[in-house]
Amino acid sequence: MKPQTLWKVSLVLWGLGLLFSSGASAYELTGQDWTYQTSPMGEDWSVCTSSMPSSGSARTKDGAYEWNYSFFTFTFGADFTGCSSYPNYDGTNQADYGSGLGASTLAETTWYYTISTGDILECDMRFSNTFTWYTGTGTPASNQYDWWSVAAHEMGHCLGLAHEPDITTPKPVMYPTFAAGEVRRVLTSDDTAGRNAIYGAACASLAFASKAPSLVASLPAAIWLALPILFVAAWKLSLKRKKGAADGRSGRM
Ligand SMILES: [Zn+2]
Repeated sequence: MKPQTLWKVSLVLWGLGLLFSSGASAYELTGQDWTYQTSPMGEDWSVCTSSMPSSGSARTKDGAYEWNYSFFTFTFGADFTGCSSYPNYDGTNQADYGSGLGASTLAETTWYYTISTGDILECDMRFSNTFTWYTGTGTPASNQYDWWSVAAHEMGHCLGLAHEPDITTPKPVMYPTFAAGEVRRVLTSDDTAGRNAIYGAACASLAFASKAPSLVASLPAAIWLALPILFVAAWKLSLKRKKGAADGRSGRM
């Protein structure tokens, strides 16, 4: 092999390496979104406040509003009681408070979408009632989980973002785990870049306006699919498990 050929090969490999490394360190998309709508998200959420901690509804809205900009807006109808089951494809984007999530899951978002197009049709969200929540706007105590931060994360899933585990300084809203006492309410540049990758950058209104809505109504109703993504409190719980294991080795039961 001529030296010139070797140089070309090594350049190609270096280029591939750059591609892979940059792909692993940026926002992740779910592949489903609301871009088929003229003004995403185009329909209200409703918070079911039955048994929900006081101000849980207000902090759910605060979390959602973090994402709002020219090309995507979360909006809310009136709060209500008498929640439907979670999740439930019933035409209401419902956020509620209840049981049935995993032991280490703080909250969960389920979205229904058309498989062939990735058009999201409905989101449902549940906050687990097995944790101690902070629903204020200040600083949570070390044993409290910040509702506002978790709401911002869950709403990111509804918008079309998956978890971003690779960036830690600072951790994006879409980072997959969350500790008690932590606050992560404000979008980082990675969160914003992910949102803008789906719905458009704020300065590119002409490019965004050229997107045409696709034909959701013509697709058969049998192809809806629920796809839950969990926001887990793995950090705190893994500490608990480690402590338990140490107790076991010292002979205590
Ligand atoms: Zn999540």
